[in-house]
Amino acid sequence: MKFEREEVEYLLFEDETLLERAHYYKGDNVGYVTYLRGLIELSNECIKNCLYCGIRRENEKAVRYSLTDEQVLEAARYAYENRYGSIALQAGERVSGDYVKRITELVKKIKQMSGGSLGITLSLGEQTKEVYHQWKKAGADRYLLRIETSNPELYTKIHPNDPLHTFEKRIKALEDLRETGYQVGTGVMIGLPFQTKKDLVDDLFFMKKMDIDMCGMGPYLEHRDTPLYEFRDLLWTQRERFEMTLRMVATLRLMMPKINIAATTALQAIDPVGREKALWAGANVIMPNITPVTTRASYKLYENKPVSEDCLDVQEKSLFERIISTGDEIGFGEQGNSLHYKFRKKPNNG
Ligand code: SAH
Ligand code: SF4
Repeated sequence: MKFEREEVEYLLFEDETLLERAHYYKGDNVGYVTYLRGLIELSNECIKNCLYCGIRRENEKAVRYSLTDEQVLEAARYAYENRYGSIALQAGERVSGDYVKRITELVKKIKQMSGGSLGITLSLGEQTKEVYHQWKKAGADRYLLRIETSNPELYTKIHPNDPLHTFEKRIKALEDLRETGYQVGTGVMIGLPFQTKKDLVDDLFFMKKMDIDMCGMGPYLEHRDTPLYEFRDLLWTQRERFEMTLRMVATLRLMMPKINIAATTALQAIDPVGREKALWAGANVIMPNITPVTTRASYKLYENKPVSEDCLDVQEKSLFERIISTGDEIGFGEQGNSLHYKFRKKPNNG
């Protein structure tokens, strides 16, 4: 369906029935099912210096860690045995040959361990097309790389001005991922300093134009050890950022009915049941953190990141109950691949 700009502006900023509409639209298009991706935060080492992020290269206060292969495999096995269906490997950006090889081996081992059944999402930053190929061949299914903002000028304001952080490279990376055959996910931060309402409307049209398969977007959350903290007086309140994120999720569900949309952890940093509210309003994926509890606190992209010290079984029980209270089933044992991807690959099936 083609959306006019005025229509999207009305939905996003005015429609009082938006969340409800998206709720029903979700049921009709992807069903009332929440798919799980066990999130493994592999390492907080990063070669980049994004001005908003707590684990940026120059933040000397960040205590750096990297999980061992055994820890990663153990977490993946946990996901498999508990019928998560998929895992997501996320980390700061690194590009060395050794690192690339290590990821390749890990992906292979995780696929093998699960008899090929566990879906694998990677969120490991910008790489060369060859690397994307290599990881795909090893068994990765999906790749998440947020555009952060579709406004090139705003992108320049929230990143250092150097060849490592260009908007053009980011776009090229998304194109390479698509050509490599991944289910491609992108997304934005909502409520960044200098971001306008027009930018948010543009972000939605950007995702539509890029024909993405998955989306993960969340509120921007300030972190005191980052350069962007200086502009905290310009920000909307956290509650406003939260509400706007729910509206972005709901509007995107209406614009792209069959994509996967994640209810992101940053929502939970503002509202304890923020992710469940997003699931009700159109999202259909959640990424429970299954990183070993000892390193979780160090993977701190933003402040107030929810870090539970309860063991996984206890956390899960209450999370699963809350998901079910939104009216969703949980897609245990299912990869929960993007239907949008399936249909663009085989147009005659849908
Ligand atoms: N290094 C990889 C993956 C880890 S960062 C990458 O950058 O793609 C994953 C996401 O965390 C980023 O895309 C960004 O959107 C989000 N993030 C970083 N700092 C944040 C902050 N202060 N508030 C909200 N989200 C943040
Ligand atoms: Fe590194 Fe990702 Fe943070 Fe940028 S957003 S500094 S690439 S971890």
